Amino acid sequence: MTSHIVLFGPPAAGKGTQAKRIAAEGSLTPTSTGDMLRAAVAEDTPLGQRAAGIMQAGNLVDDATIMGIIGDHLASGGAPEGALFDGFPRTVAQAEGLDALLGKRGEKVSAVVNIIVPDEILLSRVESRIAETPEAERRADDSPEALKVRLVAYHEQTVPVLEYYRAQDKVLDIDGTQTIEAVTASILAALA
Ligand code: AMP
Repeated sequence: MTSHIVLFGPPAAGKGTQAKRIAAEGSLTPTSTGDMLRAAVAEDTPLGQRAAGIMQAGNLVDDATIMGIIGDHLASGGAPEGALFDGFPRTVAQAEGLDALLGKRGEKVSAVVNIIVPDEILLSRVESRIAETPEAERRADDSPEALKVRLVAYHEQTVPVLEYYRAQDKVLDIDGTQTIEAVTASILAALA
């Protein structure tokens, strides 16, 4: 049975970095709704035009839109041997939607990797990322103001997703304050 893994954690926890590193060790496809939305914004599609302002402010794009993107991606064979989801699901409605979608395909989420990083460390990470990245390459939402909105959305709308998966006994807790290499090693050990 194809099974999928969710990388869970606050903004700037290192989910994207870890998704690429973990995917390189196996056959899962890194699947980031944030990357898909940024591509839509860059291509100026109707979806991108709708999402740009919401993303820049740090708010969440609506569940129906996100489920449409993920449904299309899986249906078109975007993750043939399973997805390593990064930044999805971000609401309980998305988690329920994903279970329903995968259930119809005879697939499931097998584990949820919870990367734990305290808020004050996230803020200092974003500040150093801003200092180190030329303006043209910066993400539109890489600002202390947008991070604060993203953190509120995370605590209010996304943390309940963890409880949803804890009830299914799927959550693996990882200390995300370690070095990048040590976080990868901890995740691989927990998944083994
Ligand atoms: P990320 O790259 O995962 O930090 O996502 C960047 C932005 O895209 C978020 O702040 C949201 O505005 C939007 N976004 C990405 N994934 C989702 C999702 N699963 N649900 C709602 N909004 C999302």
